[in-house]
Amino acid sequence: MRGHGVSWGRLPGAAQQLLPVRSRHDALPDLPSMLPWGNGRSYGDSCRNDGGVLLDARALDRYIAFDPATGVIDVEAGVLLSAIIDLALPNGWFLSVTPGTRAVTVGGAIANDVHGKNHHRAGSFGHHVLGFELLRSDGTVLPCSPTENPEWFAATIGGLGLTGLIRRARLQLKRVAGPWLRGDSQRFGSLAEYIAIAAASERDWEYTVAWLDCSAAGRRLGRGIFMRANHAPAPAAGAAPPAPRGSLRLPFTPPLSAVNGLSLRLFNTLYFHRPAAAARDALWHYRPYFYPLDAIGDWNRMYGPQGFYQYQCVVPQADAERVLTEMLQRIAASGLGSFLVVLKTFGDHAARGLLSFPRPGVTLAVDFPNRGARTLALLDALDALTRSAGGAVYPAKDARMSAAAFQQYFPQWQAFARHVDPKFTSSFWRRVTGSTTQ
Ligand SMILES: Cc1cc2nc3c(=O)[nH]c(=O)nc-3n(C[C@H](O)[C@H](O)[C@H](O)COP(=O)(O)OP(=O)(O)OC[C@H]3O[C@@H](n4cnc5c(N)ncnc54)[C@H](O)[C@@H]3O)c2cc1C
Repeated sequence: MRGHGVSWGRLPGAAQQLLPVRSRHDALPDLPSMLPWGNGRSYGDSCRNDGGVLLDARALDRYIAFDPATGVIDVEAGVLLSAIIDLALPNGWFLSVTPGTRAVTVGGAIANDVHGKNHHRAGSFGHHVLGFELLRSDGTVLPCSPTENPEWFAATIGGLGLTGLIRRARLQLKRVAGPWLRGDSQRFGSLAEYIAIAAASERDWEYTVAWLDCSAAGRRLGRGIFMRANHAPAPAAGAAPPAPRGSLRLPFTPPLSAVNGLSLRLFNTLYFHRPAAAARDALWHYRPYFYPLDAIGDWNRMYGPQGFYQYQCVVPQADAERVLTEMLQRIAASGLGSFLVVLKTFGDHAARGLLSFPRPGVTLAVDFPNRGARTLALLDALDALTRSAGGAVYPAKDARMSAAAFQQYFPQWQAFARHVDPKFTSSFWRRVTGSTTQ
């Protein structure tokens, strides 16, 4: 399989072999260069092993146990988050933390210690992992939890699949009243306004997030829409909006990226001014609320055959307004950037993983069509700003950060490196450590 087929950004890359893991009881193959692979929803090269083997864990898709009284679920690591919701929600339970797509495996969610719109309340995915089993290439099986092999637990949460194969995991789910959320959305005119609304919303709202108009410049720079919600009981019969139907699919990859300066400005202006941008007491089904992009299958193809990059950084709160303003100025001036620009304020939770990305501050995520050197130069300029602010860039979204940048963002990387399985590696890991081992 070519590189562009195995990660969400569809960037061109060398071929790699997808080798299925058929049973959680099987030993790993005796190969010199392997990397676990979940469902390829990472954007860049942290789920790629160009020229090597990917251990496709999707067949590890069995539920092992679920206790509807406590909300503890034990599953194989290839189970999708969507499958957990399907089983747990009718029993009044939901994921404690969910990323913006439910097409992610449990193993992938642990390996990137993914975060959601409730980070300020609940921390990241790893905070709700009760334990897991880690299979190493020498055949050792390590049961890991906060009290059993805790150093392996900390290395594997956010450990980018490099410490071994997670075979199964036990998760604590969260009690909910049903599939509905109630909340509101409001426009803001600047980053300062965003920061104030986010701070004021933290106490009473479990989920907070903002969409940002990255094509706006001058007086409009930093404008966007803030959305917040809480789980809610089922509305009275007849008062609920219809549950969402199936998804659409982008049927082919256009020969050129459909994302350009004109389509961007047009979309962003229409989106900012649509009536739903200022909704009071709105009721949402969880699917469009948490997973709006899952409604369009293969939307990543819209960037054309050269694929796209996502840049997601976090910068400390104290500097966020200044640094993000400068980033937005550069993005607006570049004419690059996309419809999908998200802002979220992370809370003050110490992450459980040695390489976990979430940390206190404001996180910005922007997609960029791959226009070669022009795009890379812009991303390097954004990195310089993130580095000078003492922030970090998210490995799950990255395909190009330098080794120096990575090592600054993740100063514990050498302590982590001691846990890397000698036969496991990724394209990302080779790049950010300067390692040549294939
Ligand atoms: C539309 C969209 C929205 C997103 N929103 C968010 C968001 O809000 N927050 C967020 O944090 N992320 C978000 N992401 C990123 C996504 O959640 C992560 O990249 C996630 O880790 C992908 O999981 P996956 O199962 O596809 O694994 P892959 O992408 O295939 O792999 C991810 C990592 O997990 C490792 N891995 C996979 N399975 C195992 C296993 N069994 N054992 C050990 N290691 C394993 C791989 O080696 C790799 O390092 C989003 C992605 C998309 C496409």
